[in-house]
Amino acid sequence: MRYSNLFGRATKSELKEDLSTNAKFLIKGGFVDQLMSGSYTLLPLGFRVVKKIEQIIREEINKTGAQEMLMPLLHPKDVWNETGRWETAKEVMYQFKKDDKEFALSFTHEEIVLDLIRKHAFAYKDFPIKIYHFSTKFRNEPRAKSGLLRGREFLMKDLYSLHTSVENLDKYYWEVADSYIKIFKKLNLDAKIVEAAGGVFTDEHTHEFQVLCETGEDKIFYCEKCDFCQNKEIATVQENDRCPKCGDIIKSGNSIEVGNIFKFGTFYSKKMNVHFMDEKGKEQLAHFASYGIGLTRLMGTLAEMFHDGKGIIWPSVVAPFQVHLISIGKNADKVYEKLEKDGVEVLYDDRDVSPGEKFTDADLIGIPVRLVVSEKSGDKIEYKERISEEKILLDYDEVLEKIKTI
Ligand code: ATP
Ligand code: MG
Repeated sequence: MRYSNLFGRATKSELKEDLSTNAKFLIKGGFVDQLMSGSYTLLPLGFRVVKKIEQIIREEINKTGAQEMLMPLLHPKDVWNETGRWETAKEVMYQFKKDDKEFALSFTHEEIVLDLIRKHAFAYKDFPIKIYHFSTKFRNEPRAKSGLLRGREFLMKDLYSLHTSVENLDKYYWEVADSYIKIFKKLNLDAKIVEAAGGVFTDEHTHEFQVLCETGEDKIFYCEKCDFCQNKEIATVQENDRCPKCGDIIKSGNSIEVGNIFKFGTFYSKKMNVHFMDEKGKEQLAHFASYGIGLTRLMGTLAEMFHDGKGIIWPSVVAPFQVHLISIGKNADKVYEKLEKDGVEVLYDDRDVSPGEKFTDADLIGIPVRLVVSEKSGDKIEYKERISEEKILLDYDEVLEKIKTI
């Protein structure tokens, strides 16, 4: 991609003072645009990052045998009334009336997926069911001040599973927890599995995936030695207490919730009449769980955690491009074309602006490798990584080899 052609480039205009760190860097770098508080356009650069996050999630979730689909975002009141959540989730749900009918915009999909399942699954042989989608969620967030971390409209992967027994549900629940940890690891995030309250969903404990981060809105108490970890809202320990599991010292820290999984058992299937016929021909209630990961929150988390004074430092697996190619004083079209032909994703800054401006923008955008073609580099190419100050001159083939290791 030629940077001169890219829609939504780095901006020099002054941003509002009270913007969160992730929003500041993402807006400045040309990844997102803010329509209003809690509502963002993913510009082409930001969309590429989110698509890469999405693909990492998809690959791991598919390994658990789940199937991808797509559910509607416009929901009728009736379905939400069946569980009582039309009333109990009123504050978070965008509800409205049109031509005497009442609707809501999707804030989650439990009721919608259960309505679907009772129309498509009847006997024990139809289970387990594992279905998911990537879609927009709408939530009336009163505190939409954390940039991409808290949108009024945001992207989520939500997976729903139904089982014929508690044991089967339990097994799959922890299999998904495992795959969540793998997803976050791939994104360079060390997520902790945290016991938490159920919020509007359930009275039982749920499990959140929390990443320690100074600016995070959550607070967790955790043990560094074992896996003991609780959200502040339900914590039975304090900082410096002994870990109830292994006796080590409890620590605390601010954190960002990047995922959450919920075991509902038969709670919702009872309310919505989701049955199946067992081996003996007896009607049983299905066991239900749901699993969410916030995609746009993840992009915000990465920007919040991986940056320096100059801009974002993307983990290479989600960087919008692998290489940021800069031409100085002479054009780098040949190198650009060769890289593209060799399957490298290149952002090529071919603009007629000062080298300083190109370098500043490259640091802001945060692509892992910067290549410079100039009179000074001669037949060679200057290679520099975003995380280092070291610059080296390499032949084209050496560049290609090196990119593969990033
Ligand atoms: P929070 O406690 O941060 O408000 P939540 O517990 O209400 O989030 P869940 O219903 O558990 O959120 O949603 C699953 C995932 O969706 C969260 O773990 C998070 O990654 C993401 N998410 C939730 N709310 C938002 C939001 N307003 N903006 C962006 N991502 C969100
Ligand atoms: Mg949650």
